[in-house]
Amino acid sequence: MKRKVFSALNIFALSVVFALSVILPGLSAFFQGSAPIPLEAQLPTSVVTPSTPSSGAETSVPDAARGPAIPPDKGYLVQQIRDNLYWVSNGIFQTMFLTYDNGVIVVDAPESIGKNYLNAIREVTDKPVTYVIYSHSHTDHIGAASTFPNNATYIAQKETAAILERRKDPRRPIPTVTFSDTYTLNAGDQTLVLDYRGVNHEPGNIFIYAPRQKVLMLVDIVYPGWVPFKNLGLADDVPGYIKAHDIALAYDFDTFIGGHVNRLGTRQDVMVSREFVLDLEAAAAQALQQVNFSDFAQQIGYKDVWKLYNAYSNAFTQKCTDMMMPKWKDRLGGADTYLSDDCWEMAESLTVQFPPVQTPPATEN
Ligand SMILES: [Zn+2]
Repeated sequence: MKRKVFSALNIFALSVVFALSVILPGLSAFFQGSAPIPLEAQLPTSVVTPSTPSSGAETSVPDAARGPAIPPDKGYLVQQIRDNLYWVSNGIFQTMFLTYDNGVIVVDAPESIGKNYLNAIREVTDKPVTYVIYSHSHTDHIGAASTFPNNATYIAQKETAAILERRKDPRRPIPTVTFSDTYTLNAGDQTLVLDYRGVNHEPGNIFIYAPRQKVLMLVDIVYPGWVPFKNLGLADDVPGYIKAHDIALAYDFDTFIGGHVNRLGTRQDVMVSREFVLDLEAAAAQALQQVNFSDFAQQIGYKDVWKLYNAYSNAFTQKCTDMMMPKWKDRLGGADTYLSDDCWEMAESLTVQFPPVQTPPATEN
């Protein structure tokens, strides 16, 4: 339960950060820049530096964490990836839609993009939105879904539908079509394959694959160019979160949409994220082995057990962070902000979700 409360608070906090970033001039530098740039320039091989000079409050991020400028007059960017599949971004959230002869298939509806999602679609076509697909149940990704016609077909995995029925949230209409394992949507000349491969970020979180365009969308797992959001993006199931990388890499894709951050991803981004989480797993396991609970019990005693556990968990979190930081601080953005939270999450998961921690290989120290 504690975890759910934290999840809700963090999603709320992210929304607040987004709102502040629009309001406050200092933070809005994040969104400002020149005219839209070609798709090729958004990929990590060609990095775009925001045209607005850095303010004093802005920290430096690695080149891999930079994305295209968001037109400040619109507050969003919309660009075709290929074959009538478009992505939409406000610099923190991103999603995609496809057009076909008789309509538009939209995937997700991030709350912070809101009505701008419809504006983005209207830049491309006047055709009606006929299908709405949910990646998962979280409001930050689908909280603007009620802006679409209520006679559209809303599609989600069964677990997502069950969560939404419990939420009773008018912002997130109940899916009208659900599936267990896989669902293929054919609409005109467009095809989307929706696959559920078990719990990762949350129950019902699906792989959304456009085979013709070779685009894979998987939300809240891989953050191209960035370390995962706090606590591995609030992953419900960390073993499932790690496994999702291998499942993703089994698809034949070259463009990746992760739902967050400021640029499109590639296959390479998914491989880097996989390397990061496997490193994190090894570092957290090593930290748990090296930091001894009884040392803290001797010093602090059992009178205040939260204080005792917190001192212990701060120590293994710090050890894991110290092991990870040198390798990752210049490779992925946000390591100084969220690496320690990701260490904490991995160590806690190793303790309560994984089989017993293995002894680290002898070659590591
Ligand atoms: Zn989520």
